[in-house]
Amino acid sequence: MISMEKAVRWFDSAQTPLHELGTQADAVRKKWSGDAVYYNINAHINPTNVCQYRCALCAYSCDSDSPRAYRMELDEILQRAEDAEKAGCTEVHLVSGVDPRLPYGWYLEMVREIHRTFPTLLIKAFTAVEIAWMAEISGKSLQRVLAELREAGLKTLPGGGAEILVDSVREKICARKPMSEVWLEVHRTAHRLGIPSTATILYGHLETWEDRVQHLFRLRELQAETGGFLALIPLAFHPGATVLGKENALRRTSAEEDLRMIAISRLILDNFPHIKAYWISLGIGTAQTALAYGADDLDGTVRQERIHHDAGSQTPQCLTVEELCQLIREAGRIPVERDSLYRPVIRS
Ligand code: SF4
Repeated sequence: MISMEKAVRWFDSAQTPLHELGTQADAVRKKWSGDAVYYNINAHINPTNVCQYRCALCAYSCDSDSPRAYRMELDEILQRAEDAEKAGCTEVHLVSGVDPRLPYGWYLEMVREIHRTFPTLLIKAFTAVEIAWMAEISGKSLQRVLAELREAGLKTLPGGGAEILVDSVREKICARKPMSEVWLEVHRTAHRLGIPSTATILYGHLETWEDRVQHLFRLRELQAETGGFLALIPLAFHPGATVLGKENALRRTSAEEDLRMIAISRLILDNFPHIKAYWISLGIGTAQTALAYGADDLDGTVRQERIHHDAGSQTPQCLTVEELCQLIREAGRIPVERDSLYRPVIRS
C-alpha cells in the first residue's frame, strides 16, 4: 500500500521525474488492459444550465433570469437522443445544472422516455449532486431514488461533482453544493444497487498535493468496499471564464502536470479498471500522450458538450471515430470501441 507521504512526493518534479512515474503507471495500465485503448461513441446532452448552486469553479451555470439561461423541452432532448442513435452512439450522457423549479418527475420522465424510445442507447446520467437533490425534493431516500431511476432506464452514473473530496477545499470552490460525504454516499448506494459509476478529480485550482492524494485515497477506499467504479477521469481545471479563476488569477495546468496527474491516479487507484484521458479537458495532444502515462481510455466522440467548452476548453466539439482510432494507433495501441459499461462493441 502506498503511503500518503510517498504519494505526495510524486507530485514534486524535483523529487520524482515524470518519466519514472510514467513507466510505473504504464505497467499498471498494461496489467488491466494490455494493448487495448478504449473509446466510445457517445453524445452529451446538458438539458439546462440553470443551477442554484452557482459554484465558483463553474462557467457553465447561470441564474434562471440570466440571458444565457436555457432549458430543453423533452422533445428537444428526445430529438438529440435520436440524432445520437442515428450517428451510431451507444451512450447518451446527461448532466445538468440543478434547477430548483424542476420536479423529481421531470428527471424520471426524461430517463423513461429516452429509454422507451431508444432502448439501444445506454443512459449515463446525473451527477451525485443531482441525485442528492432529487432525494431532497422527493422526500425519498437515495436508495429509492436510484432504484426508481434504474427502473426507468438509468444504467450508470457519471463521476461529475466530485471536484476535490476534501471539504475545506469545497468550501472555497463549490461552497453551496453538497459536501464530499454526500458524493461518496450516492456512489456507494448506486454500487450496492448494481449501478456502476465513474469518478472524477478536478485539479489545478486551490487544492494542494495533499488534497489530491486524500481525494484519490478516499476513492480507493470506496472502491475496495464496493468495486463499483469503472474508471477515474482526471479533469484539468479551466480557469478562464470562472469566478474562481479570475479571483485567484489561476492559470491552466501544464502538460507536465496533467501527465503527472494521470500517472499518479493510475498508481494510487490500482483497484480501478480504467483511467480516462478526457480529450475535451486535456486537449487532444496531451490526451494522446497520456496513453503512455497510465491512461487506457480516450472517452468518446462527445457530440455537443457544453460544460467544459463554456469554461474555455479550445478542443473541437466532436472527434470522428477515424480520428480517435488514428490517435490510438499512433500511440502504438489497439483501438477498442466500448459501451458505457466497458463491454466491447462489435459492429458488423
Ligand atoms: Fe451547478 Fe454543477 Fe455548475 Fe456547481 S458545477 S454550479 S452544481 S452545474
